[in-house]
Amino acid sequence: MSVNDLFDKSDNIELNDSVDIEDESTDQVAVAPKREMESPEFQALVQELSSTMGVEGITYAPNEVIVKLNPSIASTNQINALQTSLDAKVKESTQTMGIQLWEIQGMSVAEAIALYGDDPAIEYIEPNYIGSINTTTPNDPEYNRLWGLNNTGQTGGTPDADIDAPEAWDIETGNNVVVGVIDTGVDYNHPDLNDNMWTNPGEIAGNGIDDDNNGYVDDVYGWDFANDDNDPFDDNSHGTHVAGTIAAEGNNGIGVTGVSWSADIMALKFLGSSGSGSYFDAIQAIEYATMMGADLTNNSWRGYSFSQGLRDAIAMAGNAGQLFVAASGNENNNNDTRPAYPASYNLDNIISVASTDDDDRRSGFSNFGSTSVDLGAPGSSVYSTIPGGGYGFKSGTSMATPHVAGVASLVWSDDPTLTAQQVKDRILATVDPISDLQGITVSGGRLNAYSALTGSTPPPVVPVIFDDFDPDVDNSQWSNITK
Ligand code: CA
Ligand code: CA
Ligand code: CA
Repeated sequence: MSVNDLFDKSDNIELNDSVDIEDESTDQVAVAPKREMESPEFQALVQELSSTMGVEGITYAPNEVIVKLNPSIASTNQINALQTSLDAKVKESTQTMGIQLWEIQGMSVAEAIALYGDDPAIEYIEPNYIGSINTTTPNDPEYNRLWGLNNTGQTGGTPDADIDAPEAWDIETGNNVVVGVIDTGVDYNHPDLNDNMWTNPGEIAGNGIDDDNNGYVDDVYGWDFANDDNDPFDDNSHGTHVAGTIAAEGNNGIGVTGVSWSADIMALKFLGSSGSGSYFDAIQAIEYATMMGADLTNNSWRGYSFSQGLRDAIAMAGNAGQLFVAASGNENNNNDTRPAYPASYNLDNIISVASTDDDDRRSGFSNFGSTSVDLGAPGSSVYSTIPGGGYGFKSGTSMATPHVAGVASLVWSDDPTLTAQQVKDRILATVDPISDLQGITVSGGRLNAYSALTGSTPPPVVPVIFDDFDPDVDNSQWSNITK
């Protein structure tokens, strides 16, 4: 907004044309147009200018104005009068452009601009705004608790031990990439999640008919495979917490934000209220996500028993182009020697995730594995949504995994033409290396959302194919992914 625009709207401001200013440095009486500074109109204009100049993190040097005089009009006396009125001195000048930086002590920047913004002796007078590295900060009031997204040391940890979310949001805040949350369900009524829930476009709710003929009657938000019904509401809290890290609605003035501000969460409940569930129900949930076109799924759960059926379901999802992000487990185990499923299946579409803390150390509970765990992500003391419209802290590779799923959804939002393999390669190739994960994970680093969005796609990885996975073979033969 230009100053002149403001003046055009301020018809009631009266100019006090000829205020005499004594300038002891000259014999002449300098004349400068001056508004009546005590008038309500003037104060209103100052208020309006101040609010325009100071909104949404915009800052400017408090005692400085950038001034360009009109050389054909401004006499030396006028300039002196101006500077006396503002108690100004010229701090610096440009070499050729006639633009000066004035330090003013006599009044505020807004007052100075209100007073002299339309003075014919001045081409323009404006704040000396402060530019800075561009980052996008959402307005969610509890955003500052999310050290994993932006670590300023607010939890006593190491600044920048985070995934660089605000930097990433300059590029992409997310769109309707569909993320299946295969978990304990989701509080789809949560005010920070309800607008980001996937809904089945082919289903009419509550009519008792399987309208889209997918085998599930009235499946609107997904399905509850644990209880075999159409209500995947979360009776535990784990799934709602996971969903919030992926895609709690960002910049809505409520609570927290997910890594993606607006992904679509498909609620696929197979874990019961106790937090455990059967492999068969998991297989059904994976099949549903594939059938209904989820772009990726988040799997913050694990078992230590191999299942060919579970492997087949994930392989089918991979054949459909779906990414499968899985928690490595919370037993401080080496998954290379003791596989945890589904994270440890040797399938290209799986990303296996370890947990890090606010100092970029491996969380003490986190599993690892130089060939079977791909990367780390923040998982200690993660704050997110819980059922009933609330929020709370949880720790685990379960909390790390949705950070990766969220970044995958951002990468896909930014470039929908990428394949699942390309998204995975991008995420693994662009980690921030951290010493605690060197040699015990495939990538040796912690997730970085900004780098994942900006990094070039690496050359395709040629996977080593094993026809059948046998948990008894030496797992060092695996080729999960190579950098
Ligand atoms: Ca249906
Ligand atoms: Ca229906
Ligand atoms: Ca929010």
